[in-house]
Amino acid sequence: MPLGSKGLIAYPFYHLESDGFWQLLAKPGAEIVPGKVISSLSRLRDLYLGASLDEELWALLLQRESRERLRAVLIGSYFAPEIGVMLAEQGRVNYEAKRYSDKLLEAAEELGDYAKKVGGGEHGRRVRDQGFRKAIVGLYQHRCALCGLRMLTPEGHTAVDAAHIHPWSESGNDHPTNGLALCRLCHWGFDEGLMSVGRKYEVLISSQVRGGNNFPGHVLTLSERGIFRPEEGRFWPSQECLAWHRGKVLRR
Ligand SMILES: [Zn+2]
Repeated sequence: MPLGSKGLIAYPFYHLESDGFWQLLAKPGAEIVPGKVISSLSRLRDLYLGASLDEELWALLLQRESRERLRAVLIGSYFAPEIGVMLAEQGRVNYEAKRYSDKLLEAAEELGDYAKKVGGGEHGRRVRDQGFRKAIVGLYQHRCALCGLRMLTPEGHTAVDAAHIHPWSESGNDHPTNGLALCRLCHWGFDEGLMSVGRKYEVLISSQVRGGNNFPGHVLTLSERGIFRPEEGRFWPSQECLAWHRGKVLRR
């Protein structure tokens, strides 16, 4: 593919079946019309559970060395060299971010040290951002902690961000209890000090929201409502971090 053009995973996912190592698994009762091309992700999701791989290929993919060789051949054969370099770097970031996210969810005490192990620079920043985001968005199941909104596209694009309660730049704290999944509006309101979270995990709305020429709409209805929290109590936002936010960021 040329640089800058956008692909759609539905095409290769569907067409790979003709290569013989990949079998599509239809959903029970799905009405598959032979020869009819699937060209959208929502259609693909409606009809298929997934795909299964050849056992021999699967065994190779389970070994890191053969997996890396397959990856290098695919990237070298099908992508322009400048994209190949970006893909290889993104592959490393994905791998390390997954490990970082797993570490965050183990909620290890020596977390600060682990963040240092990721290293500095652009690569380390991307691994941390992506790993923290993966952990937080999963814990909150794509729901905004403050307003409860959850919206996803068929591609898995989500309306929520992973926000630090006490910003990383100051706290260096990527522990899940320093995070909240927030939709774009609530993230902005939280960072601007217009919204916060109280001692009983209730939504606090700054009195300044009502002032000026504001028209805050549904935001006012959130006041005093309980926030949406992860299932396990050990991942709930830390009251220490929330107290910092109420004291330093929330506008009274
Ligand atoms: Zn929200």
